[in-house]
Amino acid sequence: MPLLESDVATLAAPVRTISTGPDRMQPAVQESTPTIRATAPRPAWIEVDLRALRHNYAAIHHHKRAAVKILAVVKDEAYGHGGYRVAKAVLECGASALALSTIEEALDLQQKGIRARMLMMGERAPDELKWCVAHGLVCSVGNKETAALLAAAADRAGARASVHLKINTGLNRFGVAWDQAAELAACIARSPALRLEGAYSHFAGSDEADKSFALVQLARFQKAVGDIEARGIPVPTKHICNSGGFLDLPQAHMDMVRIGLLQHGVYPSDACSRIPGVTPVMTVKARVTAIQKLSPGDSVGYGMHFHAETPRTIAVLPIGYGDGFPRVRNAGEALLAGKRAPIVGSVAMDALTVDITHIPEVRLWDEAVVLGSQGEETITAHEIAALKNTISYDVLTGWKARLPRVYLDY
Ligand SMILES: *Cc1c(COP(=O)(O)O)cnc(C)c1O
Repeated sequence: MPLLESDVATLAAPVRTISTGPDRMQPAVQESTPTIRATAPRPAWIEVDLRALRHNYAAIHHHKRAAVKILAVVKDEAYGHGGYRVAKAVLECGASALALSTIEEALDLQQKGIRARMLMMGERAPDELKWCVAHGLVCSVGNKETAALLAAAADRAGARASVHLKINTGLNRFGVAWDQAAELAACIARSPALRLEGAYSHFAGSDEADKSFALVQLARFQKAVGDIEARGIPVPTKHICNSGGFLDLPQAHMDMVRIGLLQHGVYPSDACSRIPGVTPVMTVKARVTAIQKLSPGDSVGYGMHFHAETPRTIAVLPIGYGDGFPRVRNAGEALLAGKRAPIVGSVAMDALTVDITHIPEVRLWDEAVVLGSQGEETITAHEIAALKNTISYDVLTGWKARLPRVYLDY
């Protein structure tokens, strides 16, 4: 079918999300704009339960001293849950500020009306700095060159740029070496165009059972901050914890904790302590779009990698590696009628096939779950991660934009 002329503008338009229940978070802009249409329905989708997110925040608040602030990490579309909706919710739940990785992510949130402080994590390239200044983004600074360029950009704009000093205590990615941090802090503090608002470091393995290196990193960070303060330079906000550190190292909470994965209801690893009340925010669902009966000897899917030895019933789910599901073969499961059904054959771009011979009650258009809970059964992000030899973070962020996000809220 040819594209309608009025549809052309929609190709570049931001993905619109569908909301169930009263829509209190979505700016009411789009319905009246003729060039932007509603997202078409699709029998595969991501359900984002903002009620679970709010409960997770209550649990997170309960696990820390009241004075410890929360920096909500909402990079990469809030780990695939949708940056705007999550940012809005976490700020309502008492997060003090947001952390992001790219300027585009930050500007997208600002454009949608989010007014919170935003810390840019990682290292900025020289041409990014004037953007940070223009949009009031807080920069992480881990070297003298960036400090000087940021000061110059702020000067030109007649502004003062806020900075968090990034200290490398052993991850060896970004930041100034911990034993040279005081010198860089002094250089930032001397610059009238910069304002040193905080200092932070990042753990290399806070979710491991063995915390010995995390404790080495914590000690290095504390030494670095002590050296800075010994020079009479105040460091208003000190932070080192990510979700793993937050859960297991209360002595490292300091002034603020950076929470990413955990707010979405997923634990970084099996080794981390559990706190009551944390539940996953994301569920990925699809409806049964076809049911096939296989006779002995029949195969299913590309490459004919599954052959029926006995009569089999197969349900087809319209979700595949084009949506971010791992391209596995005869591995993994989906939930139908509250039971586990094994994936048979190869996952295709747009479909996967599950054996439902043992679940005769399954009907066409029934809801299946590929990530999350149905009845008593749960497929966790860790379980899907194991299928492609990766981690839960990668599973959550790996879903493609073409899967619609549906938000559940009060
Ligand atoms: C992503 C990130 C976090 C959040 O980590 P989680 O384990 O998801 O809580 C914290 N700090 C930095 C520097 C990060 O890059």
